[in-house]
Amino acid sequence: MSSLFPALTDDPSGRPALRFGERSLTYAQLASAAGAVGERVRGEGRVAVWATPSLETAVAVVGALLAGVAAVPLNPKSGDKELGHILGDSAPRVVLAAPGDELPAALRELERIDVDGHGVGAPVGVPVGDDDPALVVYTSGTTGPPKGAVIPRRAIATTLDALADAWQWTGEDVLVHGLPLFHVHGLVLGILGPLRRGGSVRHLGRFGTEGVTRELSTGASMLFGVPTMYHRIAEALPDDPALAKALAGARLLVSGSAALPVHDHERIAAATGRRVIERYGMTETLMNTSVRADGEARAGTVGVPLPGVELRLVDEDGSAVEAYDGERVGEIQVRGPNLFTEYLNRPDATAAAFTSDGWFRTGDVAVRDPDGYVRIVGRKATDLIKSGGYKIGAGEIENALLEHPGVREAAVTGEPDADLGERIVAWVVPADPGAPPAEGELADHVARRLAPHKRPRVVRYLDALPRNDMGKIMKRALPS
Ligand code: ATP
Ligand code: MG
Repeated sequence: MSSLFPALTDDPSGRPALRFGERSLTYAQLASAAGAVGERVRGEGRVAVWATPSLETAVAVVGALLAGVAAVPLNPKSGDKELGHILGDSAPRVVLAAPGDELPAALRELERIDVDGHGVGAPVGVPVGDDDPALVVYTSGTTGPPKGAVIPRRAIATTLDALADAWQWTGEDVLVHGLPLFHVHGLVLGILGPLRRGGSVRHLGRFGTEGVTRELSTGASMLFGVPTMYHRIAEALPDDPALAKALAGARLLVSGSAALPVHDHERIAAATGRRVIERYGMTETLMNTSVRADGEARAGTVGVPLPGVELRLVDEDGSAVEAYDGERVGEIQVRGPNLFTEYLNRPDATAAAFTSDGWFRTGDVAVRDPDGYVRIVGRKATDLIKSGGYKIGAGEIENALLEHPGVREAAVTGEPDADLGERIVAWVVPADPGAPPAEGELADHVARRLAPHKRPRVVRYLDALPRNDMGKIMKRALPS
């Protein structure tokens, strides 16, 4: 197949590729350093990568890809149990790490290869096919133990090219990156994306609004973030005119990995004149939909299917939801060259994830607006509450709660109820723990904004919501 990274050559022009803090690589230096890794790992089945947010991680993954070896990025924050699960499942012989990294006990049995971020090697000329595995990425574990999705090279190339079309993304773009590198968002979109375009990445190491301001005011054009980052930006904006100015000057602000609360979207728009665009994807499917750069970014929507992606909504009895009325919900099912091949070692889970006619069941439910924009209601398993004969999405109630000044964070779930089937429960982190808003006040606040049957029956107060490393709310970890 054609190269995943056409710009990765010994081009002597000094064109920048990656910058992490003070350290950076041009395309020629990256080609050489990744080539050195490729020489070391060629012939391996899969290699684990200790995926700290570093230059070495990027070099390791690109090196493995050049050698036709699948990389398995590991979350350096995972505990021994989770690491044990992933290592047992993916069975790598080798782990790639930066020279100074201290590896936990679970990894000491593997052969360690230190990645020299400035190593010197030749391009590895290994024939690789479009369907060969490029990455094995474990899902976020939001709904159960993480599953290893085998991602072929074709999926990476097509998803990145579809995003380039939707976002008018070119080699001129400079991305501000503050995400971890062990998931699709930070690794595929945030590192492989700019490299495929021939553009560059500036990684902040650790996300902070100062870094965003600095990079966007010195030539960076795009920001990718998860909703918790945009929440921090929304909170900081009233007292930070430099941040507002920097965001106003950006070409593209993109959010994904979880729903961006409407309240944060609107606050950012009001302070900067810029609307964050949302895209929707999964480990298994890479990217499915996005608001287009030249489209209208409406709060609470994830836009339209990307080029090449077929998308349908299917209701509970298996029939397609044809209506574009913003009302009728159905499970999102997708088909296209962006899909994974299988869950590693889980043929049953793989089979269960596809319909007999080859559509992938995302487990997410959505409605479609009249113009075709997809509006995600939530996950079928945790976010669709069946109460009093209605199907109610948790997300819109969460959005309504977040508009209350006394609410910092909110999650909504259903729990069994003798009369209603399920009753709506609101989990709330108060803005001021000493003075939480009263239960009745919050219920009235929701009922004023939404239909009366969407009124929470119970409000429970917490100090914080359980979240994973991507900032996603883990509803299964809420106290029962
Ligand atoms: P697991 O599959 O292990 O339970 P996970 O589904 O959170 O974890 P990922 O593949 O990282 O693992 O996340 C994909 C999910 O994230 C989607 O199925 C969807 O529920 C959610 N998601 C991603 N982008 C958006 C978005 N823009 N709006 C709403 N939800 C989103
Ligand atoms: Mg999932």
